[in-house]
Amino acid sequence: MKIYILSRAPNLYSTHRLWLSVSSRGHEVKIVDYTRCHLLLRDGQPIVLYEGFPLELPDAIIPRIGATYTQEGVALIRHFENMGVATTLSSQALVEARDKLHCLQSLARQGIQIPATVAVYAPEHLALALEVVGGVPVIIKLVEGTHGAGVVLAHTEQTAISVVEAFARTRQKILLQEYIAEAKGTDIRAFVIDGVVVAAMERVAAAGEFRANLHRGATARSIQLSFAELQLAKRATTHLKLGVAGVDILRSERGPLLLEVNASPGLEGIEGATGVAIGRKIVSYVERMVRQEPGSSSGQTFATKE
Ligand code: ADP
Ligand code: MG
Repeated sequence: MKIYILSRAPNLYSTHRLWLSVSSRGHEVKIVDYTRCHLLLRDGQPIVLYEGFPLELPDAIIPRIGATYTQEGVALIRHFENMGVATTLSSQALVEARDKLHCLQSLARQGIQIPATVAVYAPEHLALALEVVGGVPVIIKLVEGTHGAGVVLAHTEQTAISVVEAFARTRQKILLQEYIAEAKGTDIRAFVIDGVVVAAMERVAAAGEFRANLHRGATARSIQLSFAELQLAKRATTHLKLGVAGVDILRSERGPLLLEVNASPGLEGIEGATGVAIGRKIVSYVERMVRQEPGSSSGQTFATKE
């Protein structure tokens, strides 16, 4: 099989592990920097030029798209989809997953429990927004933030106003969210492949920090999820049609709440904490996907090579 990993950083842990996992299964593998591709349409045919030369048609792609380059990544994945190439992440699923509001709207519609959340368009709307999510302390979030950057905890209304004003000046879309204090700076990251939780870790924020992102110095350990948590992770990823995803969950007094779903989840933290060879499991998933006839997968509609 010929498999391309779409990534800008061959030396990143996740990319390198995937590369090793694909090649150790005897497949041909290439890391393609998705910002150096030209998308050509000629005689009605999609062609991908890489550094000026046409790329051979792969059997499958494994997209690892950074948050800053979502648009470029989406366009390239769509090009491959139009060529009939199987992908672990569809262009549509990536678009949805990168927009926290879109994601939460879509999940809430499925009856999936999330913290009370309201979209705020202007600082003038803040008083009402604060009221509907239960007042301060409150979480203020950028719709397109990642790694904990763009997530703020405001203890007073004054701080909330200043933060919303500052974000609004940069014309960033923001969410106000109920602060789940009982989570105490701890969250759960479930790693889901093809609708199955293959590994899960509990992340504990660094001292004085409420964000449990590993990029913010949190520590992680392997945990067993409850049935409700497993179901939550499975339902969210199946609904968003994400074949490979990191699901963030908060344990609250009213049960598990879904925080967000990550379309290019890191491998280092979860492999380190749980010892599960995630890269290998992703490759097995790719192998199953390519072997399957279109439409015969677990209710998911990924583009499959003809
Ligand atoms: P990012 O995409 O930046 O990771 P998240 O929504 O996952 O954004 O938030 C980052 C971290 O902040 C979470 O892992 C969690 O520890 C904390 N956090 C986010 N939202 C809430 C909330 N509503 N209540 C309590 N903690 C939260
Ligand atoms: Mg997160």
